[in-house]
Amino acid sequence: MSRVKLKTLLDRSIKNMGDVQQGVKDKILLLIRKAYEEDINVQISSGYRSDAEQQKLYNQGRNSPGNIVTRAKPGQSVHNYGLAVDYFLTTWDGAKATWTVNNDWRRVAEIGKSLGFSWGGDWTGFTDYPHLELTNGLSWRDLNRGRRPSNEFLNKGVTRKGHSGYKTYLLQQKLKSLGYKLKVDGFFGSGTDKVVRQFQRVHALEVDGFYGPSTQAKLEHELEGVAVAENEKEEENKMEENKDQPSKWAKEDWEEAKENGYFDGSRPQDTITREEAAVVVNRLRHNFREIIKRNEGTIENLTKAIQKLNL
Ligand SMILES: [Zn+2]
Repeated sequence: MSRVKLKTLLDRSIKNMGDVQQGVKDKILLLIRKAYEEDINVQISSGYRSDAEQQKLYNQGRNSPGNIVTRAKPGQSVHNYGLAVDYFLTTWDGAKATWTVNNDWRRVAEIGKSLGFSWGGDWTGFTDYPHLELTNGLSWRDLNRGRRPSNEFLNKGVTRKGHSGYKTYLLQQKLKSLGYKLKVDGFFGSGTDKVVRQFQRVHALEVDGFYGPSTQAKLEHELEGVAVAENEKEEENKMEENKDQPSKWAKEDWEEAKENGYFDGSRPQDTITREEAAVVVNRLRHNFREIIKRNEGTIENLTKAIQKLNL
């Protein structure tokens, strides 16, 4: 029996999570990935729940068939605010859900807590083992009154191995544009960790795999270098192109020299070789000789005219 692909678990979970807050989504996807690395298949069964969906769920076991699954009316569940998810484990091949709260189940809760979630399994009274919420201690009553966890809390976490999110995505993009080989997927896994450490080693930074201020500054600096080099290359290319056009100041002379047959009109800004110079010099010499030959009589007459004037 082959193992279910990580991507399958992620895709199914993204679909089931629906419209949860981005911070929740980022962290849950990371949780699934981390658990997968530890040979645990975890999948999300639900996330965001609209008021209508909550009502339907509330009705279950009350005025519709089935067991009672929630005590929360619309607006009374953290799910209604996109700040909670429910999870379950799957069989090795991912074909079936398993709901036994075993060590693997508790390990997933631990990973969740390390990412800032509260776990329903820790609650006294109504224990909710599949439930993870990211509210920074706010209750549904607080949320109902309009309070929300800060964006800072939702996206908290140093960008380092185990983190995921937009910041990681940007980091990966930057490393890639510097020529490092890595996947740009927003997950700070072993591959990204390796590349960050490599970058730190090359630039004599502390090799800790943390994308902290010093590494970030160095990375930005290197990227500026790349931008400058690209600009220079562009300038060079431009100059290369321009070699086929005469400079503004030389345009008329160039045209004249071309018309008079000294140059064939190609590569106006290129340097001249010795053999090319020989051709030009010979053409000039030939032309002068021709002029002198044709005007021998005229020059003699001119000399005589000047002599007359001097008398
Ligand atoms: Zn829940």
